[in-house]
Amino acid sequence: MTGGEPTRFSLGEGLQASPPLSLYVHLPWCIRKCPYCDFNSHQRPDDDAGFAGFIETYLAALERDCDLSAPLVWGRVVESVFIGGGTPSLFPAPAIDRLLALLRSRFQLRPQCEITLEANPGTFEAERYRGFAAAGVTRLSIGVQSFSDAALKALGRVHSSEQALQAIALAAECFDSFNIDLMYGLPGQDQEALARDLGTALSVQPPHLSYYQLTMEPNTYFAKFPPALPDEDRIDAMHEAIVARCGAAGLAQYEVSAYARQGRQCIHNRNYWSFGDYLGLGAGAHGKLSFHDRIVRQQKLRKPEDYIKAMAASAGAAAAEPHPAVEIERVLHPDDLVFEFFLNALRLKQGVPTALFGERTGLALSRLARPLDQALARGLLVDDPRVFAPSEQGFRFLNDLQMLFLAD
Ligand code: SF4
Repeated sequence: MTGGEPTRFSLGEGLQASPPLSLYVHLPWCIRKCPYCDFNSHQRPDDDAGFAGFIETYLAALERDCDLSAPLVWGRVVESVFIGGGTPSLFPAPAIDRLLALLRSRFQLRPQCEITLEANPGTFEAERYRGFAAAGVTRLSIGVQSFSDAALKALGRVHSSEQALQAIALAAECFDSFNIDLMYGLPGQDQEALARDLGTALSVQPPHLSYYQLTMEPNTYFAKFPPALPDEDRIDAMHEAIVARCGAAGLAQYEVSAYARQGRQCIHNRNYWSFGDYLGLGAGAHGKLSFHDRIVRQQKLRKPEDYIKAMAASAGAAAAEPHPAVEIERVLHPDDLVFEFFLNALRLKQGVPTALFGERTGLALSRLARPLDQALARGLLVDDPRVFAPSEQGFRFLNDLQMLFLAD
């Protein structure tokens, strides 16, 4: 938190209505840890019986988490659900069915609610796709990363390019929509290799692509033993090629790393970028929730064992205040709200309507006079009073633009 100003809204400021609400559910296990990954993910136990036991206790913990968290969002309609990880597709379809039944019984999901599940394309998991769809998952996000077997090996991934193509064909058959996660700037990748990857990705006509640059995150294997990566100029050229070829194939870039066909943008992620609310359920899950007098961020206990233990210990109690699995909770200061709003909103290529700032932060536009003047003077924002949108230059140097909204 910054500054000495109170964190409750000042007179004349405050939210007029609740923002749209999403649910994020974290399932924290993977087959094994990828060398570049800094997510809250943990290698699953080798023996199937042991893992099945974990799943049972984790679902019980999630049930308790839902019971204790639901009062925070009572009466509000859920616009989207995202089941992420980890590798949620390691959970068998009946477990996902139980999870969705649990969410439906505790929260008010709107009809046609977008329900995304992250999946790996391994054969074993692809066999479950039909079951996930039958459970109510509407959108599958497939962690392909590359269609080059050599690149997949360098990334420590456990699936092959052929398995990825089979998984995509099945996802196209089973779900309303699907996303392919890809990465560029890979070890040893050149422009031709990228073009091949892109060509394969576009040939399967995905409704949505998420194309991330591989970065070296602290506390990962790659941070300790960094592979040789393409230099900055090559990375820039790769990014330009991705934007151009995706655009030509009807997948318009709408966010820094996201491309979609008309009507196929991800509702859940758009809610993050539009500074909407989300309730985080599960180990290490983050949430952002708005109340009439404050906006808070929460984080649940990160280690699955700690989370399960805290939830089991609270079982039987009618209510628990504070929530025993909330490890961090902070009320956002107005300076944080300004920065976090623009940190998210400016990732959207078309930006957001100007009015959204007041609707989502409860703050007056007059707070923005200085950063707006600076951003406009430097040509980083579109000069249109109806929107907050990065200019072409601002989108290219997004970090510089976002930093203008950081309080001194
Ligand atoms: S599969 Fe995804 S979440 Fe799991 S370790 Fe690899 S990158 Fe991380």
